[in-house]
Amino acid sequence: MARYIGPVCRLCRREGMKLFLKGERCYTEKCAIEKRNVPPGQHGRARKAKMVGYGVQLREKQKVKRTYGVLENQFRRYFEAADRQKGITGVLLLQSLERRLDNVAYRVGFATSRAQARQLVRHGHFLVNGKKVDIPSYAMRQGDTIAVRPGSVENATIAHAREEVKGRGVPQWLELDSTGLVGKVAQLPTREQINLPVQEQLIVELYSK
Ligand code: SF4
Repeated sequence: MARYIGPVCRLCRREGMKLFLKGERCYTEKCAIEKRNVPPGQHGRARKAKMVGYGVQLREKQKVKRTYGVLENQFRRYFEAADRQKGITGVLLLQSLERRLDNVAYRVGFATSRAQARQLVRHGHFLVNGKKVDIPSYAMRQGDTIAVRPGSVENATIAHAREEVKGRGVPQWLELDSTGLVGKVAQLPTREQINLPVQEQLIVELYSK
């Protein structure tokens, strides 16, 4: 499946905010946003002009797409699915992205970034409800569990991630058992529980034109 393979800190600088794409580095002073928060490129500083209308809507969409590592066509499919459901489209869109298996693996602390979680999922390190699932976009439902496969408990990447994210905690809508190896979707996330500073309504407006 296609994915972005260019420099990721550049994406944060383009959006002017931390998108947390690089794991541990994002929490240190080496983060590019901490050091040099200007848009990338030769004319980066000059681009700081105030945006309005379409430009703002586009940037909100890009922030969300880049945060979850989803490309345009797939993102649009998420939007269309959210739009068909009853409820607030923007919130449903974020909820469906949060329910992705790679995101849940990241949120419960089995990986330090979504990109790392995606790779671990692809390599078959996790069980969903007891069965191996290696599809990063797999949609988790309320009550589903994600577990580190017995053969992967010693995996250095997972072990390091579990150690690294210990202090950060798990979002309220997820639960981690006492072994720290099994996570559960206790409930679907509410907007308040999705820690993402974006205005999702602007994405809805963008796609509704
Ligand atoms: Fe973004 Fe992380 Fe790079 Fe900072 S270190 S710019 S948050 S990807």
